[in-house]
Amino acid sequence: MVADDESSKMWVPVCCHRVMRCNLFRQANGPAYAILVCTSCNKSIALEQEPLAAKDTFGEGSNVLNLLGSPKPPRRDRRNPVSEGDDEPTLV
Ligand SMILES: [Zn+2]
Repeated sequence: MVADDESSKMWVPVCCHRVMRCNLFRQANGPAYAILVCTSCNKSIALEQEPLAAKDTFGEGSNVLNLLGSPKPPRRDRRNPVSEGDDEPTLV
């Protein structure tokens, strides 16, 4: 089952049941960065680049996620993207 392997999956940033928009900025004299924006509530999340080798400096259990960065994500609501309520899994 190679096609269903974790490495073939990606993570989709979601807010207000919508896929967050990703704006990439490449500075001429600085590092590139990205802003995730919710098109519904305007919440924004800044993403900064780090060398992959720096992963271990972020603490035990840090994971590198394949994050989707779409400048024009579909506007439709996502079906049940995040379970809200009682059946939310408890992370220990
Ligand atoms: Zn939102």
